Amino acid sequence: MARTELDSQMLLGDLESILQYRLKRRDKERILEAYEFARFHHQEQVRDSGEPFVSHPVEVSKILAQFSADNDTIVAGLLHDIVEDCNVPLSEITEKFGETVSLIVDGVTKISNLKLNEKLESKVVKSRMKVETLRKMLLALSNDPRIIIVKLADRLHNMRTLDYLKDEEKRKDKARETIQIYAPIAHRIGMHKMQAELEDLSFKFEYPEEFKELKAKVNKKLKERQDIMDEYKNIVMRELRKNRIAARIEGRVKHLYSIWQKMVKKNRSFDEVFDLIALRIVTGDEVNCYKILGAAHSLWPPMPGRFKDYIAAPKSNGYKSLHTTLITHRGEPLEIQIRSERMHKEAEFGVASHWVYKEGIDVKDRSWFSQLVDWQKDLIESFKDIESISHELVQEEVFVFTPKGEVVHLPRGATPIDFAYAIHTEVGHHYAGAKVNDRLVPVNYELKLGDRVEVIVNKASDGPSLDWLKYVRANSTKAKIKRFFKNEYSNKLIERGKEIFRKISKRLAVAMDELIESEEIQHLMVRLGVHNENDLFAKLGDGSITMGEVLGILVPKDEEVETLPEETELVKQKQVKGNEVIVGGETGIAVYFAKCCTPLPGDDIVAVMSSRGISIHNRDCRNVRDISREKLVEASWTMASSEKFSAWIVVEFDSSDKSLMNKITERLESKNAKVKKYSVESGKWGYDTLMANILVKDVGQLTSVMENLRGMRGIQSVKRLGGVS
Ligand code: MN
Repeated sequence: MARTELDSQMLLGDLESILQYRLKRRDKERILEAYEFARFHHQEQVRDSGEPFVSHPVEVSKILAQFSADNDTIVAGLLHDIVEDCNVPLSEITEKFGETVSLIVDGVTKISNLKLNEKLESKVVKSRMKVETLRKMLLALSNDPRIIIVKLADRLHNMRTLDYLKDEEKRKDKARETIQIYAPIAHRIGMHKMQAELEDLSFKFEYPEEFKELKAKVNKKLKERQDIMDEYKNIVMRELRKNRIAARIEGRVKHLYSIWQKMVKKNRSFDEVFDLIALRIVTGDEVNCYKILGAAHSLWPPMPGRFKDYIAAPKSNGYKSLHTTLITHRGEPLEIQIRSERMHKEAEFGVASHWVYKEGIDVKDRSWFSQLVDWQKDLIESFKDIESISHELVQEEVFVFTPKGEVVHLPRGATPIDFAYAIHTEVGHHYAGAKVNDRLVPVNYELKLGDRVEVIVNKASDGPSLDWLKYVRANSTKAKIKRFFKNEYSNKLIERGKEIFRKISKRLAVAMDELIESEEIQHLMVRLGVHNENDLFAKLGDGSITMGEVLGILVPKDEEVETLPEETELVKQKQVKGNEVIVGGETGIAVYFAKCCTPLPGDDIVAVMSSRGISIHNRDCRNVRDISREKLVEASWTMASSEKFSAWIVVEFDSSDKSLMNKITERLESKNAKVKKYSVESGKWGYDTLMANILVKDVGQLTSVMENLRGMRGIQSVKRLGGVS
């Protein structure tokens, strides 16, 4: 009894000294009551450290006091494990300690319960649990941020005492979970002090060797630089006194995990990352901040481009401070942060800073965590995908972050494209590049735990590239890319087929709808095994059936079907007896030359089989690109040709020179290129366009003719039609 008395008095004393104010009598009574209640129910339990279990809730309540937590929250901290570990009904807590305490304890219990089951579950369920845990946590959070603050304090104390856990794997598991789930949440609600300690502890247990090494390095450096730090502090302090500005100056050292992250992720050396000489000046109010800035800039010259006014323009998470970098008399950069006490508390405590100013956390004021609710929505969205594709769950996973600190869950080996698609399908489709931890990375970069990924989006891009399939990891990403191409491709085929069908209907002077309803077309669709008109159009579009075949069905046999030039973009320009081209190794085969690309001897050509014969196209003709492989036959020129071939050229020329048209035709004729026909169009920018159909022996002659024209005064450009230059 005596010992309990002493412990409870010690707790009150500790809490009062942490809180820096005297607790009211009523508050003291509640704390004592909660302590006794917890001690009684936990009396059988012992921590891994060998201490009585109640030492844990006591420490949690002290951590909460460090954040100036209100009395309900401190009491809830003392009781947070009671329901879960001791089967005390929640109603008893409500009765004894009130609605608010009970609500917080309940939220914490729900989160912890899910944790507890995790050990028993298979790998798949385990991952689901992780997702569920996160959700519950975030949902709890939207009810009352105090739940999450207690949970973070609970985790912090467990991490501080993780040394006592014997199983190394379990230690690492806890560390990983902390860095993946709890530290980002602390970051999100602005509790950066909490975040930093959680990260450093996780780092210590997950990478003990690296942690030890880095810690030693940092301490050594700090010792080396101590004198210089003090010198700078004194110089600044003297200047502030001279200007009668009250402020305190702290040396500022980044926490170990953030140093390590920069070294590993940005592949920098310790010296590059470790900006030792950084000072933080904390003062009374905003006006003083600017006065101090002026004083600092009068001491040493500021480095151009390094001044940031986050007071006038706070960061999106509400962060306020002035940042500047000075070049000291030693010729080295000195980073300085200037902020008011309030800004300082807000930067370190986040949502909890409301307690510091005795404002209380207004649960009804949603603005504080509306960001969190958004985060939650995003998370649930991104997890949905993962859940629906179950075998991804058993893959190892990697957690990465958006620039705002949101967690994105991806399979191990995932690349920035996977990340982009996880954010949103449209972001994926318009992916143009990515920065990981502020560095541009290649498309095949493998994302690592904790990477901060920023996607660069090009809204003007047409969509993904098929090459991406080589670089993505998540099956959901592959599915999204493939779906894009499937839609894209079939839409194009349908469009093209529809166009052909429109021509058929025009030729027959029957409305398209009517034509589709016709018995003949319905029969055709049955024969082709297609179920709707779009499928029929697609067949026409990919050339499975031709316009001629469809016309053949619709028009009685004895009626002559005139072949229109646009039907297949072919014209019976010249039927060659067969000595000009070799088709599939044979000469003497009757062929047509395509009008769309007008192939010339010397051009790289290909033969296309169609219902009306064999047509010869240039290999890179855009009409060939979409024709199915089995309809293409290798073709080449024989060298024995004496025939002339026609080709179209387009010449842009200066319209002010009236004699130029004649000079061009003269030049062409003089080069033995006979002009068969031509047309001239006047253009907008002082240039007219001549389209000429000329006869040449082969591509060599055409090239030299074109070169010759290009050398003429007043000629803007000379091109061969069909894109073949
Ligand atoms: Mn606990």
